[in-house]
Amino acid sequence: MEKLEQLYEGKAKKVYRTNDPSTFWVYYKDSATAFNAQKKGEIEGKGVLNNLISAHFFAVLAEQGIENHFIKVISPCEMLVKKLEIVKVEVIIRNIVAGSMSKRLGVAEGTVLPTPVLEYSYKDDELGDPLINDYHIQALGLATPAEMRTIADMSFRINDILSKYMRGLNVLLVDFKLEFGRCNGRIILGDEISPDTCRFWDATTMEKLDKDRFRRDLGGVAEAYREIFNRLTGGETHVES
Ligand code: UDP
Repeated sequence: MEKLEQLYEGKAKKVYRTNDPSTFWVYYKDSATAFNAQKKGEIEGKGVLNNLISAHFFAVLAEQGIENHFIKVISPCEMLVKKLEIVKVEVIIRNIVAGSMSKRLGVAEGTVLPTPVLEYSYKDDELGDPLINDYHIQALGLATPAEMRTIADMSFRINDILSKYMRGLNVLLVDFKLEFGRCNGRIILGDEISPDTCRFWDATTMEKLDKDRFRRDLGGVAEAYREIFNRLTGGETHVES
């Protein structure tokens, strides 16, 4: 597989075209941003950890029948993925109140929700990813009702699979963000699943093992990402090429 020109550079990843029109090449960066890119920094080793953590989650989900864009890891900080036409809707699932939900609704962080909450936001950095609902999605033509039913069903299934899986590693899956895209007329899971896009708390100590350590200047950011990686994989970073 040949890496061709860069198509896109985001806050945490770069995407390149390849000689196969149905395959993209993703490079995970060490850069970190928070609060709609008002806070910027570098987390040493994050690119490698997020690439390998995402690859691991995508493989777990594929085994459970969740179609996703992951093809294979090609270097410690790079993976090949299927080309998607991204749906401009970010899905957030929450099991425990944290972050913006706590602020918006005045509910204490750490409150366990009796049923998971699903939220949508419009994927637009300039607007700061505003919260939207199904009516906005229909009115703006972001996805069809059938596509949104698939996206919601898949998101709740992913929540069940990953919550149980992380509980087995003594980690609480507090909340997370997903992105989906269209591939050959089907909706499949895209983007990444990592401590940048999920909140993970140690189930015994409630220690934060995710990007909140960066957002809130708690220190030990890279160590937290490595801890998640180690619990998922036993710490093996060797990549077959
Ligand atoms: N999230 C994300 N990208 C975003 C916004 C949120 O990956 O642009 C993730 C975030 O890491 C957390 C969950 O979605 O796991 C819920 O985030 P929240 O709405 O609480 O926003 P925040 O407090 O991060 O501003």
